[in-house]
Formats: sequence, C-alpha cells, structure tokens
Amino acid sequence: MASERYDFQHGKFHCKILSDRTYQGPMDMAKMFPTAPPDELQEALRAYKIDPSNITFSYNCLFVATETQRILVDVGIGREQEGKLLSHLEAEKISPESITHVIITHGHADHIGGLTDAQGNLVFKNAEYWIWHDEWRFWHDEKNLKDLPPHAVAAVKKNFPAIAEKINLINKEREFLPDLSAIHVPGHTVGMMALKFESGERKLLAVADSFHRPFQIGHPTWNVSFDRIPEEAPKSRQKLLKLAAAENALVLPYHFPHPGLGRVKAQGDRWEWEPI
Ligand SMILES: [Zn+2]
Repeated sequence: MASERYDFQHGKFHCKILSDRTYQGPMDMAKMFPTAPPDELQEALRAYKIDPSNITFSYNCLFVATETQRILVDVGIGREQEGKLLSHLEAEKISPESITHVIITHGHADHIGGLTDAQGNLVFKNAEYWIWHDEWRFWHDEKNLKDLPPHAVAAVKKNFPAIAEKINLINKEREFLPDLSAIHVPGHTVGMMALKFESGERKLLAVADSFHRPFQIGHPTWNVSFDRIPEEAPKSRQKLLKLAAAENALVLPYHFPHPGLGRVKAQGDRWEWEPI
C-alpha cells in the first residue's frame, strides 16, 4: 500500500500530510466537470495521464508544527466514517490534546467530520479554531441547509456546535497567526479559505477544494458540479494560480492524489501543474 504519511520541512515549519481517506476507482469526469467541453476534457485527461476508470481521490490533512504551535488544516471525515487522521497522528506520537490550532477551510463533511468523536465530544480539546466569517454564518442559517444532502447537514449539526465557544472568525485577508495568512477563495462554498504559510522566501499554499483534479490548473474555468457559486469559483482559482506562480509556492490541494503537493508554472497566459 502506498504511504499515507508524508513529511517535509518548509523553512521553519515541520509539515506532515496525513491521508485521511482515499477513494480509488472509477469517477465520471464529464459529470463531475459539466462545463468542460467534452473534447477538451478528453484532451486534458490524456495530457495529465488520468484514467477515469481508476481515479485516486485523497483527503490530504495538513499538520504544521513550529516551536510553539501544532496546527491542523482540516480534520478529515472522522473515525466513524473510517477516516484515518487520528490513527496517523497516533502513529506519529502526536496526541489530539497537543494540537493548538485547528483551521477549517470550509464546512463540508470531509473536512469537519473529525472534529468530534462518535459521542459528539470534541477531539482536539485544547485547540483554538479558525474559519472564514461567511462560511460559519452560512452553515448556521437554516434556509441555506434545506436543499443540501442530509449527510452534509448532519456533519455540520454534529460538529459545529462542539466548537462554537472556541471559534475565531476571520473576515478579511490577513496574517492571523505568525507567518500564516488567510486567503478568501469563495466559489466551492460561500466562504472557503485558503492558507499561506510563509517562511522567508518559501511559501506553502493550502488551497483546500479550489482544485479537485490537476487538469483544472490548466483549465481554471472548469468547475466541479458541486461548486456552490459557479461564477466565483473560477475567479478564486485564477487568483490562487497567479499567487502560486508569482511566489513559486508549494501548493497543496486537499483532494489531489496523496501527498498532493506541487508547484504552478506560468506558461504564457496559461498555467501548468508540476507535481513533486
Ligand atoms: Zn473536500
């Protein structure tokens, strides 16, 4: 079995990418990317050597340690749903109680399910929590929930109340922890947040679900069918691509095949993905 834990040093940050879950199997790319012209989609699949009958769809949780902090970016789907984040932390001898900060990029079940255990108790008891302001508000307005899949609503109702007293809301792009900045990237959800870790010249961008498949780097206008605000998602992707290319950042999309890391290269007016 392929490794599910990936260590790397990013300047002063000790980083691990922990694979919470991996789907391996067929995926209907035309259905997932309904706005992609069929012939261009076929071409992109060929260029990126993607076989739709055997897609690897990972959940890449990012752990970042400094001398004083232990940060998690998203917490996977949860142990009840066979999420492995906690098992990986155990194997790395990192106790859940030692996590100091949990940053939630957006409120989907595969990113928040691990906040609580089967009994609804908080897993990362000593952490402070951060999320984009509009994202938090969206999931607390009942009228927004009525058309959503039941599993998505259930995940929010189980997990968000548990962190309500510990949540910090971010409403403008800023450095909210030392050398860690929030970037607002609405589109996939109303208030999705990407993160930039900076250590001198080295930048690491955790871009959450802005990109689901690597060919979207070359085709940032192609939305996935479940991007909530279709007109915003391409703008957010382009904003991230410009930033990533300009700063030669290491980029981590949550759902790329584990470990998911790569860099974005500008080629004229297009971008290309270089996995590492
Ligand atoms: Zn996701």
